[in-house]
Amino acid sequence: MSLYHRELYKDALAQLEEAARIGKMDPNIVERLKYPKRAIQVSVPIRLDDGSVKTFEGYRVQHSLTLGPGKGGIRFHPDVDLSETTALAMLMSFKCALVGLPLGGAKGGIKVDPRALSRQELQALTRRYALEIGPFVGPHKDIPAPDIGTDKQTMAWFMDTYSQINGYAAHGVVTGKPISVGGSLGREEATGRGVAYCINFAYDYHHKKIDETTTIAIHGFGKVGMPAAEDLVEQGAKVVAVSDVSGAIYHKDGIDVPKAVNWVKEGNMLTDLEGVEHITNDQLLELEVDVLIPAAIDGVITNKNMQNIKAKMIAEGANGPISNEAVHYLSKKGIFIIPDILCNAGGVTVSYFEWVQGLASFFWDVDQINKTLHSILKKAFYEVMDNYEEFKCDMKTAAMITSIRKMETAMRVRGLFPG
Ligand code: NAD
Repeated sequence: MSLYHRELYKDALAQLEEAARIGKMDPNIVERLKYPKRAIQVSVPIRLDDGSVKTFEGYRVQHSLTLGPGKGGIRFHPDVDLSETTALAMLMSFKCALVGLPLGGAKGGIKVDPRALSRQELQALTRRYALEIGPFVGPHKDIPAPDIGTDKQTMAWFMDTYSQINGYAAHGVVTGKPISVGGSLGREEATGRGVAYCINFAYDYHHKKIDETTTIAIHGFGKVGMPAAEDLVEQGAKVVAVSDVSGAIYHKDGIDVPKAVNWVKEGNMLTDLEGVEHITNDQLLELEVDVLIPAAIDGVITNKNMQNIKAKMIAEGANGPISNEAVHYLSKKGIFIIPDILCNAGGVTVSYFEWVQGLASFFWDVDQINKTLHSILKKAFYEVMDNYEEFKCDMKTAAMITSIRKMETAMRVRGLFPG
């Protein structure tokens, strides 16, 4: 298996090359951005509850550290591999640059089904992984965060392990921590809130308003999908369908979002929720809605189903949910796509606030967090729209041009070492 075999990586590379061609970027800069700076594979042996030892594969990839320390989540999922982690690290570089954060791009993960492990086994896995990648991370080197299959508890174990090894409480080593150990207010909801903000900006841009006639379908009802649903309902929109890995629930007049949120937060699957209409994940993606939010995993809209997509707008909550071929097809069809590196950048933006607060040991109130998040995402959204209009390209390319230009400027002034 090559480092670069995954479709997600090939798509990220193709987006980079297309944006570079259209935006007439420096080819030397583009050459560097095609590859990760550092890709680490570690073995993570743990003792299972039955006394046996099992070894898992773990990764941490730092794509670019030009703008600042690496930043990117840690994923616990059976499909994790070095190629996926590399692609996601690359997307993190583009995302941080796009929204103007002084951070580079990184990503990590372990090839594991976290649902198959006990709490004690998960703790052992997290701590051993933190130890193995410990030399490469730190408040000024690379700062992990939660992603699929990990949460604030995972971050607390990671932070504690790093702190025990280094002999001080290192608040800045991870973000997405519980509030009691230096977490930030507003971090848990930040990605979903950012998705909702971006949908609002897109509605404003098109001189439209979100109201009770606005229909939304959300694929993936986790850390991103749930707060996005809550925010949009608060604004008066009708969330007609949501899904998790078990399937989707649907109601043409809008599902009961608080009930679904409580159900999932109690540890249940949507497929077991009674008194609602059940549809498949594939059917959800093909619903005729105003806004579709793919917020689960990558590669859910491809040449296999792109002809059946009927949403007017797609807000990419997940990383890479639409293949390049599908992006081109849907954009040509007039579907407005809010690209992942913009749409889901709320999480890394509030992670950045958390890191800053941790380093300063001074914590902000939630109003300041949300106001600053809103203004950062709004600025980035309109920068992307400027390039969208100037280059008459699709939104994905416009976002990449915006991002790579910022990286290009920084890489040029820093120069190539040793030259
Ligand atoms: P999560 O684990 O909290 O939720 C994922 C959701 O998707 C769950 O409802 C899960 O059941 C569902 N799901 C998983 N596999 C699926 C499948 N094969 N088909 C249908 N549904 C499936 O994860 P999350 O943190 O909400 O992340 C979702 C996506 O958003 C990922 O692509 C992640 O990289 C991206 N993202 C997350 C954040 C963040 O702050 N959490 C930030 C930026 C991007």
